[in-house]
Amino acid sequence: MISENDLREQLTLCTRIFAMQGMIGVFGHVSVYQPETKTVFITPGMGSDKATLRPDQMVPTDLKGNAIAGTEGPPVEWPIHTALHGARSDALAVAHLHTPHATLFAIAKREFRPVTLQGAIFNEGVPLYPEAQLITNPERGNALLKIIGNKRAALLRGHGIVVVGQNLQEVLYTALVLEDDTKKTLQAASLGEVSTISDQDCRAFGAEIALERRAQRAWNYFASLEARWDRQPGTGRSELFP
Ligand SMILES: [Zn+2]
Repeated sequence: MISENDLREQLTLCTRIFAMQGMIGVFGHVSVYQPETKTVFITPGMGSDKATLRPDQMVPTDLKGNAIAGTEGPPVEWPIHTALHGARSDALAVAHLHTPHATLFAIAKREFRPVTLQGAIFNEGVPLYPEAQLITNPERGNALLKIIGNKRAALLRGHGIVVVGQNLQEVLYTALVLEDDTKKTLQAASLGEVSTISDQDCRAFGAEIALERRAQRAWNYFASLEARWDRQPGTGRSELFP
């Protein structure tokens, strides 16, 4: 079992890296699940400064969103996290983000397909939660669960994204890849028709790489950058929607 201290440390580091990358700001939250105790650890809600989070600020809750300790409750969209942690044994970490490029696919009427080899991890697709609403109750959480199925990520219409992983290292890596792939799609589209990576090529690439190893290396790399980050927004200015 991974200790509570280690989970809190990893969760704060993951969230600070997302902040450094301009992928989380006023909105967005990240969680990690300790199945042995059925405890969810989640970042504090709207308005908290994600760039300076400390492990003691993480909010522990049960699978019904009740805070277990402290006075602060979880973010209002806690059902995103509890629905996934409670139902999927491979969803031990979950990020809900309003990232600038992936969110465009939750707006444009265009299905996401990988355009880079790294994006092949999303070959199974990134389904869309079609309602333009916040996921603030268990019914909506369950609706999201049905839509995402066994996939790595979902788009929330006019809102943002949800990424799930076996651990925070995987969630960090896959969220970075999804953001990069959607950004490149947008940029390449200005040059003309965009070519996507075929199902067959995605599978072949997937068979050649070990996701766990990539995720751990990316984690180590970004942790090293974060350690010497000056805590200023990546763009030099702060935006309501990063
Ligand atoms: Zn949201």
